[in-house]
Amino acid sequence: MAKLGNPQETIQILQKHDFHFRKKFGQNFLIDTHVLEKIVEAAGVQNGDFILEIGPGIGTLTQYLCEGAGRVLAVEIDPNLIPILKETLAGYDNVEIVHGDILKQDIQAIADRYNGGRPIKVVANLPYYITTPIIMELFESHVPLANVTVMVQREVAERMQAGPGTKAYGALSLAVQYYAAPYLAANVPPNCFMPRPSVGSAVIRLDCLGRTPLEVRDERLMFRLIRASFNQRRKTLLNGLVNGGVLKLSKEEVAAAIRAAGLDPAVRGEKLGLAEFAALADELVKYP
Ligand code: SAM
Repeated sequence: MAKLGNPQETIQILQKHDFHFRKKFGQNFLIDTHVLEKIVEAAGVQNGDFILEIGPGIGTLTQYLCEGAGRVLAVEIDPNLIPILKETLAGYDNVEIVHGDILKQDIQAIADRYNGGRPIKVVANLPYYITTPIIMELFESHVPLANVTVMVQREVAERMQAGPGTKAYGALSLAVQYYAAPYLAANVPPNCFMPRPSVGSAVIRLDCLGRTPLEVRDERLMFRLIRASFNQRRKTLLNGLVNGGVLKLSKEEVAAAIRAAGLDPAVRGEKLGLAEFAALADELVKYP
């Protein structure tokens, strides 16, 4: 069985199976051994670990994971890749391939079944068209996670790490930092993929905090406020919340709640940190 991770082996296996890339599935396969090793190292893969891999493609990263981890479950949406994965992973007895959409999997059930409910590690060269929904689904479903190590667009990695007042700061920064501590492991240029993406990429590890960094009475309300504020970045916090349609309150009531949270209604949402949004949510939750 061929060891994948270079352009020659990748082309050979693709031609053998007459595989054609499908843009709609965000298919950019890794062809660089250094990057593959870096991902496994960044994830801190150990031989007792259970790893959930999202989008194994032809199984390149999967082979590396199988060699380092105890057990790997790989979820792939493209039916044309399943026979290829069966071939490229035939030499490993610690891997299971699931044909399906990651957004439709019951990840809690996976953690229970394969890891006795203990926190799992997620590793992926993510399909870029659904990076945010995948990350948010993992966090918001509150499944037990140890860390999430993913290849994403460089610009998305910057957003995940950004702080208040910067251009990259937004709803994704706040959501990621509420649940995890981000760590940038590597920048990856387009020539490490086949086909080459049009943008630079980065490997980022999100160390899940286990418990959230602050108390908020209604987490969902807090994230609705965050999204409304950033949907209209150029507006004041007050106008963003009133026009955002997330609250059934008068402008005066919203202004009063903002003041009661110790904030200025004229401030822009992009200047606020998690603690301020949490204080605001705790004021607004008092209204029926
Ligand atoms: N892991 C492989 C590698 O590094 O070479 C492939 C990575 S490629 C960027 C993304 C993979 O995710 C593709 O194989 C694609 O078919 C798969 N994919 C796309 N959408 C998916 C979804 N909703 N659920 C599961 N897999 C998906």
